Amino acid sequence: MAAAMLKTTIAGSLPKPAWLAAPQTLWAPWRLEGGALEEGKRDAVVLALREQEEAGIDIVTDGEQTRRHFVWGFVEQVDGIDFSKMVTIGIRAGRYTADVPTVVAPVRRRGPIHSEEVRFARAHTTRLLKFTMPGPMTIVDTIHDAHYRSRADLGMAFARLLNEEARELEALGVDMIQLDEPAFNVYMDEVRDWGIAALDRAVEGLSCRTAVHICYGYGIKANTDWKQTLGGEWRQYERTFPLLAASRIGGVSLECAASHVPISLIGLLGDKDILLGAIDVASDRVETPAQVAAVIREAMKHVHRDRISPCTNCGMVPLSREVARGKLRALAEGAALVRRELSG
Ligand code: ZN
Repeated sequence: MAAAMLKTTIAGSLPKPAWLAAPQTLWAPWRLEGGALEEGKRDAVVLALREQEEAGIDIVTDGEQTRRHFVWGFVEQVDGIDFSKMVTIGIRAGRYTADVPTVVAPVRRRGPIHSEEVRFARAHTTRLLKFTMPGPMTIVDTIHDAHYRSRADLGMAFARLLNEEARELEALGVDMIQLDEPAFNVYMDEVRDWGIAALDRAVEGLSCRTAVHICYGYGIKANTDWKQTLGGEWRQYERTFPLLAASRIGGVSLECAASHVPISLIGLLGDKDILLGAIDVASDRVETPAQVAAVIREAMKHVHRDRISPCTNCGMVPLSREVARGKLRALAEGAALVRRELSG
C-alpha cells in the first residue's frame, strides 16, 4: 500500500552522454552518424533507463536520448514540413530565437514516428514507462507556418497526428503519454481559445494515463531572465488550471521547486493527477531529500497524496550527468522519506 503512493517520475529528458552529443547544450548536433548513431542512441536509452532505476524512479522515460530537441523528434517525421526552408523566428512570445522549418503543405505522418523507440524502451525496463511528445501549441510555436495561416488550425492538425501516434504507442505498452506544453504558460488566451481543445483531441480515446507538462522552461539564461520579469508570485497557472480541470487530460506536470508558483494553485486542478515539480532544473545544486520532502508535504495540504507523483520541474538535458544523477536520487529519497512518515 505504502509503496504505491507518491510514485516518482521525471519531466522527460536526461543529459546525453558526451559521445552522443555535446553535453549541456540544447539542439546539440549528433557526434555519431549512420549505424553508429542508431546504436549509440539505443545504448544511451539503456543507460538512461538504468540510471533512473538505480536512483529509484518509479515511472521512467527513455530520457529523450533519441531526439535532438523535444519538438524535433516528432516534426522531423511529418510530411508537409520543409527542413530546407529554415527561418529564424522568436518563439515563446519572442523570449528567444530559433531556426525552425516551414510548414508548406497539409501535415501528415509519414508513418509510425516513435514506435521503434517505444518498443526498445519497453523491452529494456519492467518499470512503468512514460513517453513524451510535444503538445500541439508548442509545436505550432516552434515552427514557421506558410500554409495553414492559422495557429489554431495548424494546432488541431498536429493534435490529430499526435492522437494517431499516441494510440499506436499505447498499444505497444506505454503506461503514460505526456504532452509537453511550455507554450501554455505564455499564450493563456490561446490556451482558452483552442489549446485545451487541441490537447483533448490529442488524447482522445486513450486508456493509458495521460499528462500535460507545463513549465517555465529549461534552466537556460533566456528563461531565467524571463522569470525575473514575472514578479514575486507566478500565477500563469491560475488561468489555465481551471480549464485543464475540465479537460480530458489525466494529469498535469508543473514547476514547484525553488519557484515563485504558489503551490496552492494545484487545488484548481480538480481531480487531476499532479506531477509535482520537486527538483529545480535551473540550478546545479543538488537538492537534499529533506527539501524534496518539504515540497511534497506542502502539496499534500492542497491535494490528496494518492494524486501526487513527485517529479522534476522540467527536462534535465542542460545539466551535467553527475548533477542529474544526484537530483534523481534526491527525488526518489525525498519521496521515500514522506512515504515512511505516512506509513509509520
Ligand atoms: Zn519543461
